[in-house]
Amino acid sequence: MESEEIETTVCVVGAGPAGAMLALLLARAGIEVVLLEKHADFLRDFRGDTVHPSTLEVLDELGLYERFRALPQRKVEKFEFVQDGVSFHPIDFHTLELRFPYVVFVPQWDFLNLITADAVRYPGFRLMMRAGASGVVWRDDRVVGVRCDTPDGPRTVRAALVVAADGRNSAVRRSAGLVPRDLGIPMDVMAFRISRRDTDPDEGLSTRIGNGRFFCVINRNTYWQISYEAGKGAFDRLRREGIDRFRRDLGEMVPFLGDRTGEVGGLDDLHLLEVRVNRLRKWHAPGLLCIGDAAHEMSPAGGFGVNLAVQDAVASANCLVGALLENQRSGRPLDTRALAAVRRGRWLPTVLTQEFQRLLQRLNVERVGRGDGTLLGPHPSTLFERLPFLRKVLTRVVGVGFRPEHVRIPLTASPRDVVNRAD
Ligand SMILES: Cc1cc2nc3c(=O)[nH]c(=O)nc-3n(C[C@H](O)[C@H](O)[C@H](O)COP(=O)(O)OP(=O)(O)OC[C@H]3O[C@@H](n4cnc5c(N)ncnc54)[C@H](O)[C@@H]3O)c2cc1C
Repeated sequence: MESEEIETTVCVVGAGPAGAMLALLLARAGIEVVLLEKHADFLRDFRGDTVHPSTLEVLDELGLYERFRALPQRKVEKFEFVQDGVSFHPIDFHTLELRFPYVVFVPQWDFLNLITADAVRYPGFRLMMRAGASGVVWRDDRVVGVRCDTPDGPRTVRAALVVAADGRNSAVRRSAGLVPRDLGIPMDVMAFRISRRDTDPDEGLSTRIGNGRFFCVINRNTYWQISYEAGKGAFDRLRREGIDRFRRDLGEMVPFLGDRTGEVGGLDDLHLLEVRVNRLRKWHAPGLLCIGDAAHEMSPAGGFGVNLAVQDAVASANCLVGALLENQRSGRPLDTRALAAVRRGRWLPTVLTQEFQRLLQRLNVERVGRGDGTLLGPHPSTLFERLPFLRKVLTRVVGVGFRPEHVRIPLTASPRDVVNRAD
């Protein structure tokens, strides 16, 4: 079948946090943008439901914070850790002067629906769901478009810029021949749910450590979202030890769940989530830019991935809007130096964040996974009592990150009245 062609200024591939946010920013700046998403909806379980203070500020700068606040959510002001029965709070947002002193847990699909629902109000925006990109189109040594499969047949989207925001297994990145460097993070994460009762504690997020086990328990109002984290091969060990041993460990580490560990019916109820950390050395080629996990895959440690993806989107819009408006006016090809500027601005925050995640991995999961049972030398509760600035530093790194981005582009496009561009 012959591929129909669609013309636009920017084609963003992937409507995750990076792609959806970038497409919204561009549309609001008056740039024509097509956003391709291979799934029919935004439903994803056990992936990135944390919205940190830096992202809340971006939402506020876009005038979306009030609508965001109306979504079903839970605010968490402190992260609790319990090690060998002793509780401490290495992250406490009240120790910093922040506009939004909390992390919000919100289902990722609600967050993405909010962003894309705002974007469809702008005339230059087009969202194509169930449109899976299969590869880029080259002319000479420049990317000039993307091929994708849609329910109506194959399409080619021609654009001055293609943005690969299609996540950790990016098809666009692969087809452009960009290969990330693997930074290795030997860790298994298994996620599952257990019902929550009114008599349960009211804590927002609690990480239970000890006995070679690591359970992160998140209050999602009607249920507990739990991730079990351990060194690589933990799932094989579980298979050998059996589900009863797992239930016993869970009951010991999180005693208030002891009466319902049977809700984990078997190993099939544990969703094994593969964790990798990698990054591209070069994020762009002529006509192509990679952002978010497509440029640097993140581990779940510290819940940075969604927020870093949003920061990339804001930085990309700040660097590129001028050149894209010029391209729309004159047809002049996009200067590759503008693309390089995105990577230059985001490189250091990305490297520092990933190295921080690897440090957490070494201190937490590897030591605990070996059964050493301690995070550092002395019990960490003592450490945070003696060195209060350590809590402030950790809280800033987790909540705000390194070199936070702010929306610096003029959001000049007027929304249209009729919403008709979501295919
Ligand atoms: C187990 C686990 C737990 C995590 N938990 C957290 C957490 O709690 N907090 C946090 O901040 N981060 C977390 N992360 C990291 C976070 O999920 C990612 O860093 C973040 O989602 C990256 O956003 P993104 O927009 O770059 O990519 P993604 O969120 O992966 O979005 C990519 C989008 O592209 C679409 N797509 C893929 N291929 C194509 C294609 N060919 N054509 C069209 N569309 C395509 C996908 O359907 C998806 O919608 C976790 C990661 C893992 C592995």
